[in-house]
Amino acid sequence: MDGNLQNDIEKIVEADRAHVWHHLTQHKPLETGEPRIIVEGRGMRVWDQHGKEHLDAVSGGVWTVNVGYGRERIANAVRDQLIKLNYFAGSAGSVPGAQFSEKLISKMPGMSRVYYTNSGSEANEKAFKMVRQIAHKRYGGKKHKILYRDRDYHGSTIGAMSCGGQDERNAQYGPFAPGFVRVPHCLEYRAQWDLSGEEYGQRAADAIEEVILAEGPDTVGALCLEPVTAGGGVITPPEGYWPRVQEICRKYDILLHIDEVVCGVGRTGTHWFGYQHYGVEPDFVTMAKGVASGYAAIACCVTNERVFDMFKEDMTDPMDYFRDISTFGGCTAGPAAALENMAIIEEEGLLENTTVMGDYMLDQLHALKDKHKVIGDVRGKGLFLGAELVADRTSKEPVPEKHAQAVAADCMAQGVVIGVTNRSIPGFNNTLCYSPALIATRDDIDQIIAATDKALTKVFG
Ligand code: PMP
Repeated sequence: MDGNLQNDIEKIVEADRAHVWHHLTQHKPLETGEPRIIVEGRGMRVWDQHGKEHLDAVSGGVWTVNVGYGRERIANAVRDQLIKLNYFAGSAGSVPGAQFSEKLISKMPGMSRVYYTNSGSEANEKAFKMVRQIAHKRYGGKKHKILYRDRDYHGSTIGAMSCGGQDERNAQYGPFAPGFVRVPHCLEYRAQWDLSGEEYGQRAADAIEEVILAEGPDTVGALCLEPVTAGGGVITPPEGYWPRVQEICRKYDILLHIDEVVCGVGRTGTHWFGYQHYGVEPDFVTMAKGVASGYAAIACCVTNERVFDMFKEDMTDPMDYFRDISTFGGCTAGPAAALENMAIIEEEGLLENTTVMGDYMLDQLHALKDKHKVIGDVRGKGLFLGAELVADRTSKEPVPEKHAQAVAADCMAQGVVIGVTNRSIPGFNNTLCYSPALIATRDDIDQIIAATDKALTKVFG
């Protein structure tokens, strides 16, 4: 930490304590305790106000800093762009906006248009609005319902929460928007049907069809899903799930909206996007976190040409276009950072590294499971992994949230930041979450696993 900051840090901590309202935080303990302030970052590591080093196993807390901290190349590109032109909004385009769109679309066969906005929630809201407008344009407003899945999360706005499958997160924020309908999750570990593998996957998808039939297919406009569910417990889909989901969407002419806010831009390894592992052909793909790794705020709602075409059909109708704007969708820092971010992933072979390191980490988590009976299940894809903690492997009763939190707190004391699904689903805030940057090495992973091992022994014996 530089000298000036060292002198000022007490004042900064005081200012934070007095005036900052932290995300996801009960503030009472901070009146006497000290808020944590992250001051610097480099590679996989960050330093707090006391100069203590932490190995960040969650990419900035919430699956975001995919290329790691301290990337001067991104900072320089953003700086150059800001000096040239920081912003212009409305119907005009920008140089980095055009360049990044072209690059992004080159990684997404079948997709064609990029709509810029600021956050994952908003990217999802854009897709919802497009679905609703299509319903009005084509079906007299009838085909307007949007299906979402139990345990999935699509954002913090009232619209996105209306599409949210995490009841504890939603509690006390209703009433929500109408026209969103829930379908069952596909987590085989907590099976809802007495089947396994591919048969289980197909059955979980059939459950979506049952909801469509109950609602009336002519009322259902879209299905919105995470490819691998993140905050709802790191849920990888069973074999057979996605092909059947795609088939059902085609059968009933339902638009498929894939939320890649967490999975997108390399997180799951090998492919740029999670859905690409499963051969899915979406109509909407929304993304945010890893698009610019947190170097600038940028989110995108990407559509195929079929969707885009529906918004330019009738020049005689003054309402026949997407009448929507995000003020900061006109910031050029976002696409400038996103271009460099993508170039880094390509040049450093980070999709491949994510696959190799993800497989290694999954093996290590399985080894931990062999050692600690409190781990009931291990799952994930690429560097997006989870370990579900249960009090008993037969009943699968989740451990209390405070015990999972104690494991994370002990890792933090050891200088390793891991995550826990928290305050999202009643009774199921029990999954340890790992999402290190895509640059992770074996040594980093060994350190994360060793800290977890020690913490599990301390908390559960
Ligand atoms: N979708 C998913 C799958 C997410 O995990 C999140 C955020 N955690 C969002 C959407 C919302 O993104 P944001 O917080 O940028 O609005």
